Amino acid sequence: MNVPEIFGSNVFNDAVMKDRLPSDAYKELKSTIESGKALDVDLANVVAHAMKDWAVEKGATHFTHWFQPMTGFTAEKHDSFIQPEDGGKIIMHFSGKELVKGEPDASSFPSGGIRATFEARGYTAWDPTSYAFVKDDTLCIPTAFFSYGGEALDKKTPLLRSMEALSKQAMRILKIFGNDQGVSQVLTTVGAEQEYFLVDQKLFKERPDLIYTGRTLFGAMAPKGQEMDDHYFGAIKPNVKAYMEDLDRELWSYGVLSKTEHNEVAPGQHEMAPIFETTNIATDHNQLTMEVMRKTAQKHGLECLLHEKPFAGVNGSGKHNNWSMSTDTGVNLLEPGKTPSQNSQFLLFLVATIRAVDEYQDMIRLSVASAGNDHRLGANEAPPAIVSIFLGEELTSVLHAIHYGEDYDDQKRTKINLGIDVLPPLPKDTTDRNRTSPFAFTGNKFELRSLGSAASLAGPNTVLNTAVADVLEDFADKLEGTDDLNRDLSKLIVETLDKHGRIVFNGNGYDESWIQEAQKRGLTNMKSLVDAAPAYIDKKNVDLFIKHGVYSKVELEARYDIKLEKYWKVLNIEALTMVDMVKKGIIGSVVGFMDQLSGVIEKKKNIGLDIEGSMEMNLIKDISANADEMMERLYYLENALYDAKGIEETYDIAKYYKEKVTPAMEALRDIVDKLELLVPHDMWPYPSYGELLYSA
Ligand code: ADP
Ligand code: MG
Repeated sequence: MNVPEIFGSNVFNDAVMKDRLPSDAYKELKSTIESGKALDVDLANVVAHAMKDWAVEKGATHFTHWFQPMTGFTAEKHDSFIQPEDGGKIIMHFSGKELVKGEPDASSFPSGGIRATFEARGYTAWDPTSYAFVKDDTLCIPTAFFSYGGEALDKKTPLLRSMEALSKQAMRILKIFGNDQGVSQVLTTVGAEQEYFLVDQKLFKERPDLIYTGRTLFGAMAPKGQEMDDHYFGAIKPNVKAYMEDLDRELWSYGVLSKTEHNEVAPGQHEMAPIFETTNIATDHNQLTMEVMRKTAQKHGLECLLHEKPFAGVNGSGKHNNWSMSTDTGVNLLEPGKTPSQNSQFLLFLVATIRAVDEYQDMIRLSVASAGNDHRLGANEAPPAIVSIFLGEELTSVLHAIHYGEDYDDQKRTKINLGIDVLPPLPKDTTDRNRTSPFAFTGNKFELRSLGSAASLAGPNTVLNTAVADVLEDFADKLEGTDDLNRDLSKLIVETLDKHGRIVFNGNGYDESWIQEAQKRGLTNMKSLVDAAPAYIDKKNVDLFIKHGVYSKVELEARYDIKLEKYWKVLNIEALTMVDMVKKGIIGSVVGFMDQLSGVIEKKKNIGLDIEGSMEMNLIKDISANADEMMERLYYLENALYDAKGIEETYDIAKYYKEKVTPAMEALRDIVDKLELLVPHDMWPYPSYGELLYSA
């Protein structure tokens, strides 16, 4: 495998553009991309033509505007390149207009009421900062998706806006420190570690719950789960290895910097970590990664489960969002520098992030909320639903010393004077040593660990970028024109820590006592999506997003609606699937086994054996009682679903599903899992946990 040759071979990247475009056009395109201006029509025609020729050589017959509607998935509508010619012939054609703008019918995508029914059209516009690529014989053009009135109908547009907001404010800070020479923008960077499960495809197809909902809704735990810690970083099985190799090859061809593949904690669970990129590209690439993971699995007779909690009783899957800020010249702004001035600037960006996360902890919590992720957060396998920051001992003592003007090093009696002293070296976190923290500083970046595996990176990063931009704006307002930067910065750091130091927590986030402690500190603890959702329309947050031009009020209200609607719809599908599985599969198998047992009992009786207290009798009594209970719980769930139909407001429906339907689902599952253990394996209609977890 020639990796350098494969890498980016399906991407219309800078090298290809340089090679394929006339040099004037190439230069013009580059400067248009850098300035963020709209593409000129003539130039668009030249670019489209070159793109089409390149794509056709790669076997492409179609093109699509590839976009990320608020479903959280990617969408594509394929158009072929064909254009009729005289004599009944066709040519392959692609115009600048087609490249730059598309008009897909938006009426079937969630809009949260933005798109009035009379204006069903949505528009897609090329995001030239993200390269076009060829996938499945189709030229894919990464695009933003918006309404007739210009409202964002997607996840990319607000993300791009948030990056712009952050850049604007961060540039002001760099200028204050005199570090802005040659820098034209500040970018945020993300490396997203992606967890997933692999299961055998044949078994997958025998589980309606996996097919319809992506997770198992029933299933008694296998005798062996993850308690032996023998899967994490364990030797990779040959078929999984073959999958990973194929996955890497595919991802590389799309220019995804897939770097690390390893086994995760639960049996059947794995992880891929790419090298970090600009957030916008990382987000596009993560969407692509999830798609390629699924498709590649199918080629190997496997299914890739990206659900946050496919199996009860073993870990669910997350997506660690490693985040930092960097100049376009490549300087990481969360890297503690080697000089006093670099250190001061680092501390400013650090405490700005601390304050941002504290002030907008509700939005950060909301940004990672989903029906699936509700199973993880706070469940002692993923960070708690309480947002806090882990800084590590060393950095905490540095901040403590600055905060209280105390000696940093008691033995050497050293104080830390900003702008004069160099910070002591900070160890890099290479071992995930505090897995329980939702937001951990790991040496030169923060790691937001609360994301579920299925989530788009766009939402959480939009929040993070905007919140940090807001604090940087305030800091810049206070520091611009100062006559003593070090004095004023020290003051600012002390003030910020006074007010926002409460968010820093280096202890065990899984510990019961943390919940009480966090409450004392006034931190929010939103256990479910329903608790978190109102943050979208909270005045403080609405003001923030409007001020930085990231979301309008209408756009936020739409997202509030969509989030809640998606939540209860997911639960509704899950509940209906459970009902279906019980009625069509489980009842029959339970009855079948009771029939067998009663046959044996009858025969035993006939030959004069005492059946009272016999194995068959005890078993059938036990099963029968559980089966009766199962039916009661089934009807209870069905009634709960029926009653939901009378509720009107989206929030109330979601709340009802959380409070009434979810417990009814859990109760039904509980009894069905008990029955599974009483019925012989070959009579149970669905593959077991043991089979699924150890199938790949
Ligand atoms: P490990 O967690 O194994 O120690 P790293 O800390 O190097 O590995 O990286 C974990 C993830 O963080 C990778 O995806 C990596 O590319 C990403 N990462 C590293 N530096 C940055 C950065 N400055 N900004 C965003 N992500 C980063
Ligand atoms: Mg990590």
